Parts: sequence; structure tokens; C-alpha cells
Amino acid sequence: MAEPRGPSPSDGHDDTQNEGMAAQGARTDRAHPGAGKSAVDAVVVGAGVIGAAISLELARAGRRVLVLDKGLGIGHGSTSASSAIVRFHYSSFTGVAAAWEAKQLWADWRAHLGYADPASLATFVRTGMLVLDPVPGGWTATTDLFTAAGVPWEAWDADEIGRRAPGLDPGRFGPPKAVDAPDFYDDAHGRLGGTFTPDAGYVDDPCLAAQNLAAAARQHGANYLLRREVTSVEATGRRRWRVHTDGGDVIDTDVVVNAAGPWSSGLNRLVGADGDFSVSSRPLRQEVHQLRAPASAPRMAVADPDLGVYLRPHGSGQLIVGGMEPDCDPLEWVADPDSVDPRPTARVFEAQSLRAARRVPDLTVPNRPTGITGVYDVATDWSPIYDRTALPGYYVAMGTSGNQFKNAPLVGQLMAFLVDAVEAGHDHDGDPLTFTAPRTGNLLELATYSRLRAVDPDAPTSVMG
Ligand SMILES: Cc1cc2nc3c(=O)[nH]c(=O)nc-3n(C[C@H](O)[C@H](O)[C@H](O)COP(=O)(O)OP(=O)(O)OC[C@H]3O[C@@H](n4cnc5c(N)ncnc54)[C@H](O)[C@@H]3O)c2cc1C
Repeated sequence: MAEPRGPSPSDGHDDTQNEGMAAQGARTDRAHPGAGKSAVDAVVVGAGVIGAAISLELARAGRRVLVLDKGLGIGHGSTSASSAIVRFHYSSFTGVAAAWEAKQLWADWRAHLGYADPASLATFVRTGMLVLDPVPGGWTATTDLFTAAGVPWEAWDADEIGRRAPGLDPGRFGPPKAVDAPDFYDDAHGRLGGTFTPDAGYVDDPCLAAQNLAAAARQHGANYLLRREVTSVEATGRRRWRVHTDGGDVIDTDVVVNAAGPWSSGLNRLVGADGDFSVSSRPLRQEVHQLRAPASAPRMAVADPDLGVYLRPHGSGQLIVGGMEPDCDPLEWVADPDSVDPRPTARVFEAQSLRAARRVPDLTVPNRPTGITGVYDVATDWSPIYDRTALPGYYVAMGTSGNQFKNAPLVGQLMAFLVDAVEAGHDHDGDPLTFTAPRTGNLLELATYSRLRAVDPDAPTSVMG
């Protein structure tokens, strides 16, 4: 679905090797070494950054955990395409506070993992992030949430942008337009300000981050089986669930966590777990482009709703440019994430890079598209679903809407908290749990992530969430 962005430190992981099932007294078959019948406490479906984080925390809590993934490696799904920006602009207090908590974990990654992965560690690069404000004062509700959650922020006017990010044109060009619209190159009709959060940044290798989480989970006894597609999950006798894979595995377990990314709604349908969801999710094709950064390019991440793009530095001398779902661009919903063509298209490349070049006038746009394709798992209100379901023991961490890479280490913690409480008999639907964020002390209302939440008619309609 997505191609890795060139050589990555994650190459040090031999994560295509399966393990574990035979060691648990299971029979093996030749086509799928390690296939067999076994019993564990929890099966996590999906070895992306979310599933890997959940496996770590469930294993830390003492559960015997097995992670199944149909891909060839850990983090090879939508995680590998992620721009991995860590920022704090969200529309709810819990959204802001969750991202702020998760940032503390990225910034202290080795301590969070509790394990010095010999294959090297993903690194959080603190660049700060400027979010431009097409409507003066448009982010006031968000900056109030920053203040409440303890996120440092600064208001920048156009002059301050000129001082702090001289390579950016602070002109007002929006609303976003198609690049072939007659007024696309019109002069600016005003000047923009924005909010700057100095603690934002990005994780340099999202795939490696998932592999770090998996390596740490293995230290607590978690097992990973790759190249195994979950083909059925059926209710059973002594343990609640029997999970079958296309590799011939039959696994009995009390807990199943659906962390299948853009495939998660399909898995829910397979299991028959989607009956009472008021929020659904579906896969959306996305492209992210990589361009050579001019010397004047900002050294910070920038979200630009005025032009409908975001950008961030990448490695030495590169810029990553992605889209923010402007109204003028059709959304590319897909029925099957596996059918998505991984090649970037000239159409989306032109739209995103020419818009970026209006904001960064020194940017040179090459003739051929350079970049990758990924798939978001978009929830109705662009906010994730981290919840139990009506089926006892079947949980979901899905609908991550293109904006939850940053929260993954925290999602592991709050899903383990939720599983523990619900398995102990707590009625999370009737009396939603509150999670106290260990680093910042903020209280996260897990009802925010409920599958049963009412969708606000003013809910976000873009990746900002
Ligand atoms: C282009 C792009 C840019 C993004 N940028 C950002 C960003 O800047 N900041 C941010 O915070 N977030 C960002 N995101 C979002 C973030 O990357 C995702 O929310 C996150 O990676 C989702 O992780 P996941 O583990 O849920 O899914 P995935 O990484 O897709 O993992 C799901 C796994 O499940 C496996 N699977 C599915 N079905 C089955 C089955 N039946 N049996 C076995 N295995 C199965 C798949 O093989 C896959 O490996 C971006 C996403 C994309 C696509």
C-alpha cells in the first residue's frame, strides 16, 4: 500500500521472522512455519504503530499477547506512509491533552519503551509548528484548550512570521483553489497570522517507531506473527474467541483488539461487531510528496488551511508536503485499501506542491511526482474510536483519521486501561472511564473516543481532527 521513503534505520530489524507459536506447544506447517493451535490472553490484529503500542501495554500489564499482521513487516501498513507530525491543534480538550501527553512520551522514547532497541530508536525532532489562521482569531477555541492543557503557544502576526520564518510568504491567498482555476495565481488579498507551538515536531522514522514498540513488547513476552491474515473471529466456549488465520493458525483468546488501520471496518463486519456504532470509518487515499527544500524553507512544520496543505522538514534538505482536504479537492474514498495504487499521481502532486510553492516562493517543483501514497482510516467526525464493543472481549482502536500516529504510545496505555477495567466488569458505555495522563496529569475523557458518541454537526472535516 505504501512504499518506505528510502533507506531507513528500521532496516536493522529482521521483523519478517515469525516466532513463538511452536514454542507454545503448537503444531507447525511448512508453508507457514509456526502455524498451530494455541491459547493466549489477548490477540491484537494489526502490527502498525497502534497495534504495536497496545501490545506493549497489554504485555506490560501481564497478559499473554499475540499480534497478527498480514503484512511482511511491522509498521508496513499506513504507519509507513505517515508524515509523523506531532502537533497539538485538536478540537476537543481530550484531543489536545492526549497529543500533549503523547509528545512527552516521544521526547523520552527510550524511557517510555523501557528497552534500548539494538536496531536503533526512532527520534522525535522538535521543530515547532506554525498553524496559519485564515480567519483572524479562528484558533481561539483551540488556544483556550492549549492553556487549559498546559501546551505552550505563541500568537504570531504576519510581521512575526516574516521574522521567524522568512522563507514563508504570509499572504492570504485562500480559500484553497484548484491549480487550474483562473485565479490560482492572483496576488494575495491580505496577510495571515497564526499560532506557533514550540514543542511540536515530527518522528523521523514512523516504521521504526512501530518496530521499537514491538521490540519492547517482546521483552514482556508478546509474540508477533507476520504474513498472517485474520480470516475469522468466532465466539467460542471456554475462551471467548477463536481466531483463524490464512496460515492455519487457530488461537483461543479472551480479548481481541482490532487495530487493523484502514482495514478495521472490514474486520468489524467480518466479526459482526459493527451493529451499534454511531461513528463509522472508511479508507481514504492520500498522497504525501517529497521535495527538495530551498535554503529559505522554514525549519518548522506548517499547517496552511488557507492553501489546503501542510509541510514539514524531512532529513537534511527535504520537505514533505501533504494535503488538508480543501473543499476544492475531491476526496478519494476507496472500497478496499489493498486495491490502492501506491504511485503518486501528477494531478495530486501538482495541486499540493504548487500550493506549497505559493507559501514557500523559493520552492522548485520538479516535473515528475515524487512521494508516496497511504490510506487514512477516516471516522465520521475525524476523531478516533478507542473503545469496547457490544461483543464482550472485542475492542477497537480504529478510525485514526490521518492524525493519530502521534498518539500511539498513549493509545497503548489507554487501551490497556480500558481493557483492564472492562474485563474487570466496568460498564464503560454507561459510565465512561477517565484516564489520568501520567506525565502531564491531564484528565482524558474516554467518552470522546466512544463508538456510541453523537456526531457533532460542527465536527472537523479534515485531518486536523
Ligand atoms: C499519508 C499519511 C500521513 C499521515 N500523517 C500523520 C501525521 O503527520 N501525524 C499523525 O499523527 N498521524 C499521521 N497519519 C496517521 C497515522 O499514520 C495513522 O493514524 C497510524 O499510522 C495508524 O496506525 P495503525 O496501526 O492503526 O494502522 P496501520 O499502520 O495501517 O496498521 C494496521 C495493520 O493491520 C494489518 N491488518 C489489517 N487487516 C488485517 C487482518 N485481517 N489480519 C491481519 N492483519 C491485518 C495491516 O497489514 C496493517 O499492518 C498519517 C497517515 C497517512 C496515511
